[in-house]
Amino acid sequence: MSERIDERTARCPECGAVLPSGRDCWERVHELLEIEARLLPGIEDVEVGLLAHFFAIATYQLQHPSRLTSGAVTQLRDGVRRMLGSDRPPIDHLRRQVRGFAEGPSRVARRAPAGDRAHVPHWPRRWTMTATDVIGGPQADYADAVERWARHTLGDLDGIVS
Ligand SMILES: [Zn+2]
Repeated sequence: MSERIDERTARCPECGAVLPSGRDCWERVHELLEIEARLLPGIEDVEVGLLAHFFAIATYQLQHPSRLTSGAVTQLRDGVRRMLGSDRPPIDHLRRQVRGFAEGPSRVARRAPAGDRAHVPHWPRRWTMTATDVIGGPQADYADAVERWARHTLGDLDGIVS
């Protein structure tokens, strides 16, 4: 798929997604959450919903490491790898992990200029999939799409950063 780049568009310096001029990539998180708010109450299996939420938020953050400490980046990457594995931990474990991130931003948030990646210098800036691909896809496919997004992101990372 070719993308037209002109003066009306810009790329996110972290995930490389094309953004309309003046828009912040961070707004994508709110768009993901809006999809979840519409979609997830209709999903009977609570675990599927929680897992989709974890993949969405963790993957977005993995593609935007300037906002996180290097320790938090490592923890998230390990968490995504565990959740994609065949021996996925029980849902209670996942819940604690997600809640820990939501409640402890001061422990994981990094104070640095926007887009600064001095702590993870080799981190990719282009990815096989970005939040834009998930948001642009069919909403009924959301849970599968965020898992695919997580898997591609881990694969992109493992190909570049050991
Ligand atoms: Zn971005």
